[in-house]
Amino acid sequence: VSFGYEDVAPEEKTARVRGVFSNVASKYDLMNDAMSGGLHRRWKDRFVRRVKPRKGEHILDMAGGTGDIAFRMVDSDAAITVADINPEMLAVGMERAAKRGLDGLVWTEANAETLQFPDRFFDAYTIAFGIRNVTDIPKALREAHRVLKRGGRFFCLEFSTTEWPGFGEVYDAYSHHLVPKLGQALAGDADSYRYLIESIRRFPDMPTFERMIGEAGFVQTKVEPLLGGLVAIHSGWKI
Ligand code: SAM
Repeated sequence: VSFGYEDVAPEEKTARVRGVFSNVASKYDLMNDAMSGGLHRRWKDRFVRRVKPRKGEHILDMAGGTGDIAFRMVDSDAAITVADINPEMLAVGMERAAKRGLDGLVWTEANAETLQFPDRFFDAYTIAFGIRNVTDIPKALREAHRVLKRGGRFFCLEFSTTEWPGFGEVYDAYSHHLVPKLGQALAGDADSYRYLIESIRRFPDMPTFERMIGEAGFVQTKVEPLLGGLVAIHSGWKI
């Protein structure tokens, strides 16, 4: 499997991804704002509007990191579990939650490929900017399907490939030259950001990823491109 520009064994990739997020955890929120010019906030708002969390529902925010998606759903009074493979990201999230006086969230360490939750437990599964870091994506999608109830909904927010003419080139130049420099300047870590950019470039395009979601068992799959597909919201239903 590929890790940035290198090929590595699957276990090695999982370990290295864990390392990347341990390195960036304390600067993660600052970097998101710096790299996207604050746009990630609007993408996340839109994403949560699609999810429409409701009172009494059980929602799993997978690869939930420092809590950006969970914090946007917490007013709904749904029961939200934030799961992430990286304890340092979760620790930053828990600290942020405490500062905001939010005590209703459950935080737990989990690998998206092998979830500890029972079958048919959740009403919705969300994963934002997480799936591309997972080593075995089809396996993670099958796990998402397993833990959802019948009638449960799957939502994924992820970078994809913009189809706007010219925009892709500008974005490529920006991401390859500026992002590692920003990573160095703000987080003291250019390599982690090189990996993040390369993982975006290698992620399947919108129709391919939509097909993968269908192959995991979801129906009525849909994709909503943002900025021509630079970012996309994929969704599907379990029946
Ligand atoms: N969802 C948050 C957000 O939108 O701000 C965090 C996104 S962050 C870019 C990616 C997260 O995926 C990291 O917190 C990382 O630890 C987590 N992650 C990577 N591989 C994972 C895996 N196999 N299982 C669970 N989480 C994983």
